[in-house]
Amino acid sequence: MCGALDKWNIFNFEWSGFYLDKNGLSQTLHFKLKQFPFLYLLNLYYPHVHKAPRFFLFKFLYALTFFMREENKSEGLKNLYENRLINNELIELFFKPFTENCLNTEFEKASNNMLSFLLKECSKNLPSSLDIYLPKSNYHVCVILPIINYLENLGVTFHFNSPVERIYPDRSLKLRKNVTGQYDDIVIATPGYSAFSIWKKSNLPINDEISVWEKQVYRDILNLWVFIPLSKVNASRTKNSFLWHPVKFEDDGTTYIIVSKELPNHILLAIVRSACVAERAKKEKEEIMAFGRKLLRTKFYIQLDRCDFKLIRSKKATVACTHDQHKTNSIWSGIKTPMDRILKCSDEGAMGFPSTIEGAVFSGNKVAEKLLQQRN
Ligand SMILES: Cc1cc2nc3c(=O)[nH]c(=O)nc-3n(C[C@H](O)[C@H](O)[C@H](O)COP(=O)(O)OP(=O)(O)OC[C@H]3O[C@@H](n4cnc5c(N)ncnc54)[C@H](O)[C@@H]3O)c2cc1C
Repeated sequence: MCGALDKWNIFNFEWSGFYLDKNGLSQTLHFKLKQFPFLYLLNLYYPHVHKAPRFFLFKFLYALTFFMREENKSEGLKNLYENRLINNELIELFFKPFTENCLNTEFEKASNNMLSFLLKECSKNLPSSLDIYLPKSNYHVCVILPIINYLENLGVTFHFNSPVERIYPDRSLKLRKNVTGQYDDIVIATPGYSAFSIWKKSNLPINDEISVWEKQVYRDILNLWVFIPLSKVNASRTKNSFLWHPVKFEDDGTTYIIVSKELPNHILLAIVRSACVAERAKKEKEEIMAFGRKLLRTKFYIQLDRCDFKLIRSKKATVACTHDQHKTNSIWSGIKTPMDRILKCSDEGAMGFPSTIEGAVFSGNKVAEKLLQQRN
């Protein structure tokens, strides 16, 4: 609608797992969707699979079907797979990294219902449901600007760098030192914890919906960004312009996701660890740095300290899709508040969706529908 997608590249989903141990990097599972005349097939290369289980493909498809089945709702993932003869190596190779990165929740604690939902979503409209969209240059130019330009042309006014501190009962807002005029409707489009802080400062009534914002349990995401100068790299360069690889690190048992992109003079590498928790912050930091050092030595024959790098911890990155939160319905807040004409819209507002961009868009659509209903 606003032309933003013209500024994106589309990549095919391709899973290429690795194992990093004392012998270096070895490929484990590799698969991608391949196009044949009139049909797409999952091309699965498993001869390289580290400790390949016998009848690998059969076991993989069995596990896939098993996790997609809805009647498994009432149990947590750990109980479920341990009691149902699902091959443990398969969990480590695919289901654990897939779940932890898509749901930002530890596999053992994750809700099976959410995993099942996600796998079903991926299987709809294949193969385009598995396309990966990335901005051609950066998010500001390819995402934010086209949307802002489109909305400004429709008369929308933006106040940037003006955090909302309070909402008054007459629906005016306190932004830093200013108080705005009265608005017809207010939509709070922030994560639940941030919405709760505004709500509490505003002394507005608190009911069950608002309490969910306070109780929601979040997970952090750790991101180690590295710029590797092309002039100093001896190893084979990334041929594709975008790569996404899960790499299991023997030293700490964690699967890190490596995203890399070749720029004119550098390789930009993002090393991502999902499902992080504040209590383990120090250990997680040491572990990701150790992984980064070993990966750079092994794959690029370069010391991390010879590159520009930055470690960023996105605190409370998303709500955790845990089995416990699912049982008590506290993953989602919905879009309502106890105040007339004040709505909530965010990734954790979309009932049934994991905390993702898709959840945020879905929740936005619900709010837009509600506003239109109120107008008519
Ligand atoms: C490192 C990382 C990687 C991720 N990767 C993916 C991915 O690959 N795929 C995916 O689908 N999702 C991913 N996510 C999750 C995705 O980014 C979120 O689900 C999504 O952005 C949520 O959208 P939202 O509009 O609900 O909230 P946000 O994007 O958090 O937007 C809320 C906005 O409100 C602003 N705000 C907060 N408080 C105030 C205030 N008091 N006044 C005014 N403004 C305020 C914030 O600055 C922010 O701009 C990732 C998240 C992180 C952190």
